[in-house]
Amino acid sequence: MAIECVNLTKRYGNVTAVDNLTISFDQHKLSILIGPSGCGKTTVLTMLNRLNSITEGDIRYDGVSIKDIDPIELRRSIGYVIQEIGLFPHMTVYENIATVPRLLKWPEAKIRRRTDELLELVNLAPDQFRDKYPSEVSGGQRQRIGVARGLAADPEFLLMDEPFGAIDPINRERLQDSFLEIQRRIQKTIVFVTHDIREAVKLGDKIAILRLGKLIQYDETLTVINQPANEFVENLLGSDRALKGLELLRVRDNLDNNYFSLKAGVGLTAKEAAERLHGEHRSFGFLETADGKLAGYVLTRDLERAEGTRSVDDLAHQVESINPYGTLMEAITMMVTTGLTSVPVVDDRDVLKGVIRFRDVFDKVAELAGTAEE
Ligand code: ADP
Repeated sequence: MAIECVNLTKRYGNVTAVDNLTISFDQHKLSILIGPSGCGKTTVLTMLNRLNSITEGDIRYDGVSIKDIDPIELRRSIGYVIQEIGLFPHMTVYENIATVPRLLKWPEAKIRRRTDELLELVNLAPDQFRDKYPSEVSGGQRQRIGVARGLAADPEFLLMDEPFGAIDPINRERLQDSFLEIQRRIQKTIVFVTHDIREAVKLGDKIAILRLGKLIQYDETLTVINQPANEFVENLLGSDRALKGLELLRVRDNLDNNYFSLKAGVGLTAKEAAERLHGEHRSFGFLETADGKLAGYVLTRDLERAEGTRSVDDLAHQVESINPYGTLMEAITMMVTTGLTSVPVVDDRDVLKGVIRFRDVFDKVAELAGTAEE
């Protein structure tokens, strides 16, 4: 009951944009608002933020009506993350993140500490990014900066309006993965607007479906998938609704962290490596640096053909990897497109966490479809 909308209504002339909406968003959870264009998502979000006035009804934060909360206090306790247009182009990354803390008159030393901490959190090296302008970084990086800015004053609540909407699909998946990892650490109460059902299923603890300003269904994500309230929700989920269950399963819960790897950068020879791989009956092995980072893979076949004294490092191939917060849907898509039956799993810092195998994903698919062997 962290955020409640009570009979919330918004009318523009004779258009009812939000129609008698009663819903509560759970504390420390990520709740999705989804529905077709014009269903009222943005209007709800801007009322939650007090950028937009309420026609009827109320919004309560931790039981207190929004009308009774001091606007500055509201700015502090709610972070707002929108598409990349949200960054001020004439300000550096540092100044962008510092916007709300400055409004709150924090001492500059505290702002500097906080900015560095946030840049680390979103995986951007502070020394490298602090003084850049938004135009000097990529779209994905801008979006990470947007998230950092939304979190600047350590707000309890986070409102996100299609934050990854302008990013290409591959980078969007990455941003979603690292955002999930961030949320696991910071546990904010989040209301997240999207029109992308895949994104909703991947990120949402709960999903609220709106249509013409009215709430159609509001449930745990798995319940929405398994028990859509009506045909409208079924259509929104699409014909591959059962497969979407794979979007809910995370790589990190299905990986094998008892994997085999060879050390890179320590002068291991092709002969030694081939013997070790033979001993393990393996046709290939991943290479791992001294600090645990993935450094590619070697094929047993290549090692045997090479001169025995050559370093394994010279024989390494690049390898695709997946994030622990990736979904089994992404894992299986990667396996099918790359032909790899074992995909290495690495975190945001490239540290190898384990391996995900086709066999294990396939077993999950069978389990979901109810055809698992006894
Ligand atoms: P969504 O974010 O789901 O696409 P919106 O909340 O933007 O939907 O819009 C909901 C409805 O309210 C739409 O019919 C839209 O045309 C109308 N609307 C939104 N903002 C205004 C406005 N400032 N003036 C008049 N009508 C508006």
